[in-house]
Amino acid sequence: MSESTIEWTEKTWNPTTGCTVISKECDNCYAKILTDSLQMKGSGKYLQGFDVFAEHPNALKEPFKWKKPTLVFVNSMSDLFHKDMKLEFLQQIFQVMNETPRHTYQVLTKRDAILLELSPELTWTENIWMGVSVGSCVSIRKIDRLRKCGAKNKFLSVEPLIEELPDLNLEGIDWVIVGGENGRGSGIRPIKKDWILKIKKNCEDQNVPFFFKQWGLSRFNPDPSDPTQYKGHPDYAKGGCQINGKMYRENPCVVDPHFGELPFEWD
Ligand code: SF4
Repeated sequence: MSESTIEWTEKTWNPTTGCTVISKECDNCYAKILTDSLQMKGSGKYLQGFDVFAEHPNALKEPFKWKKPTLVFVNSMSDLFHKDMKLEFLQQIFQVMNETPRHTYQVLTKRDAILLELSPELTWTENIWMGVSVGSCVSIRKIDRLRKCGAKNKFLSVEPLIEELPDLNLEGIDWVIVGGENGRGSGIRPIKKDWILKIKKNCEDQNVPFFFKQWGLSRFNPDPSDPTQYKGHPDYAKGGCQINGKMYRENPCVVDPHFGELPFEWD
């Protein structure tokens, strides 16, 4: 587990590591780049490299130790619905989420078919938000499968947005995040303002919270004076995060204030 710089979460939790490319949105996968670097540094969990999907049973204890109710991005370095995931281990991960209702979990996958297939085998408590990645037209079909899964809260991660999407049907969707590509290898698939505004309007028309995460690179940002592109700004984001001088950061995925902190943190 680690504190996260991802704008829409607080912590990341990785009970598995490793993955395989499955769509064109994966081309500049940050998890692969980061895993390669952690592997070179000899970091234990990542020694097997990105191409090996590995389970980490010890990580299952972590959420029980966090005393503060926390927003947790599950598997930022992998995909819970990878083809090599064993159902038994997936059920154990869900059981941890079920048994720690003080935390809110954000699970994101690019494997919508496996999500739908395994959904009946899982217990979907209120504190689990399930999302699919939809950065290109071919990925739009994932939204239908997300709609049909058992999760009570559903979201779209439209990142990296690499082409214009048609108008989106957001029925049954509770939140949309949009962002441009960033990191090593990015730079040839710029996000466009018109594409973002179209999705923002889809959200407004259908009453769905909209979160604009980042332009990705400053040169993709049409506003060179956007102050949020500079490190040191309290709302710094890669390439900046303003559209026409405003930030759009609705986030319904909040930790339930009903849950107070536990009196101590476990070791
Ligand atoms: S599914 Fe996610 S973690 Fe896996 S290769 Fe694609 S971008 Fe990377």
